[in-house]
Amino acid sequence: MANTYSLLIDGKEISTGKTAQVFDKFSGEAIGQVFVAGPEQLEQAVSAAFAARGKIAELSSFRRAEIIRKAAGILRDRKETIAGLIAREAGKPLKYASTEVERAIENLEYVSEEAKRIHGETVPIDAGKSGAGRFGYYERFPVGVVAAITPFNFPLNLVAHKIGPAVAAGCPIVFKPASTAPLTGFELAKAFAEAGLPAGGLNTLFGSGKEIGDPLVADPRIAKISFTGSRAVGERIIRIAGLKKVTLELGGNCGVVIDKDLISLDYAVNRCLMGAFANQGQVCISVQRIYVHRKRYDEFLKSFIAKTNALKMGNPIDPATDIGPMITEDDARRLDDWIGEAQKQGAKVVAGGKHEGVMYHPTVITDAKPEMKIVKDELFGPVVVVIPVDSFEDGVKACDEGSYGLQAGVFTSNINRAYFAVRAINAGGIVVNDVPTFRIDHMPYGGNKGSGIGREGSRFAIDEMTTIRMVVFNLNE
Ligand code: NAP
Repeated sequence: MANTYSLLIDGKEISTGKTAQVFDKFSGEAIGQVFVAGPEQLEQAVSAAFAARGKIAELSSFRRAEIIRKAAGILRDRKETIAGLIAREAGKPLKYASTEVERAIENLEYVSEEAKRIHGETVPIDAGKSGAGRFGYYERFPVGVVAAITPFNFPLNLVAHKIGPAVAAGCPIVFKPASTAPLTGFELAKAFAEAGLPAGGLNTLFGSGKEIGDPLVADPRIAKISFTGSRAVGERIIRIAGLKKVTLELGGNCGVVIDKDLISLDYAVNRCLMGAFANQGQVCISVQRIYVHRKRYDEFLKSFIAKTNALKMGNPIDPATDIGPMITEDDARRLDDWIGEAQKQGAKVVAGGKHEGVMYHPTVITDAKPEMKIVKDELFGPVVVVIPVDSFEDGVKACDEGSYGLQAGVFTSNINRAYFAVRAINAGGIVVNDVPTFRIDHMPYGGNKGSGIGREGSRFAIDEMTTIRMVVFNLNE
């Protein structure tokens, strides 16, 4: 019998009249069931968090740092179990699931250090004409209750990116994980409770975003929404949130540009392979479009196809597996539709292009055009388009086209051209000589254009969970 997971509200485990099964995405076996929250539990969670504001804000920064560090330690002790849970509930191959756990630990350790450095600064008021004889400074205060809403594809680390900074800033949290993969986030919430976060500091709700998402987001007691997920849901949130702070970490269709003179084509091929196919391409900064200088196109494509065809598909729990299942079979069917549509418009599938159930073969497409969905929208699957360009600059311009702007990667040994790309691509991050899929958890991270609003990454997320209070002393009287 699979474990049943309760809601965690005000330090208590709460059951409800409704349960939902969570499945192993490869085998289809039920691995757990959760109690599903309705309006009553949503109200309890928001009230508990709202009532806990003073208690959490009053924790010293030493104590907040200690709780976060302890939670990281608990994760370290349970590393293998949690990596296995990620592999099963999210279908993420174990090698990437283990990396996710390591990243979450490092992320929380970094946030615990930053928790001790939340402070303001003095402001030279007398630098203004009417400021003579005045002195000022600002302080940072917790913003209030944070609603943390997370997607399925990094069910641990993206939760750590919200809970860690909220605790560091002194904010209570109402947390709703993705319905398809909610168990790992629950394990992190439990680790924070065990680490000593007071009751009401972190309240976890399971349930459908459609049903409890809207009232959670619209609730005036929520001061800050920290959302990671699709653009469609992000746009809905911004419409109904009202006057509150909102961080939206949304999707992308990241591009890579490969110059004619790069240090190692083989290195670029291997990195693009990881960038395109890690976690079956279900990564917001996955490589979706590769623009290759025509002089290196044939060589790149030949090697890339050979290596794509050599990837091992299978059960994500097997450490040798490169490609696991899609999160749902509907997503596999959606990829079929998009690829079929592109083929009718002239695109060619040169590797993969099919699925058996949830298992989508890693796919490479050529002859794609900018107006095709597989180029301009977010594919979010193990599918990549490779496009020849006449110059590095043309590749950069094509990479910048469209409505997303999360990250981009450029491979070149020419520093001027690298800098041209940095200036020309309107994305939240540019990675030179690597793929856009590179992320270190304390860097400012987030999208431009349709890829989001605001930044995460330890200090940057903490800043967004605080408000500034300016203090001015008039010393003239
Ligand atoms: P999603 O469908 O947008 O779901 C994300 C979360 O929002 C889930 O918890 C979902 O709950 C909830 N939700 C759904 N409707 C809601 C509503 N009306 N109000 C409030 N919450 C609602 O995204 P996903 O499929 O899980 O994740 C994939 C997407 O996330 C991709 O677009 C990917 O690029 C993006 N992503 C972005 C980043 C980044 O840092 N920029 C990182 C990872 C992923 P249910 O699960 O119950 O529907």
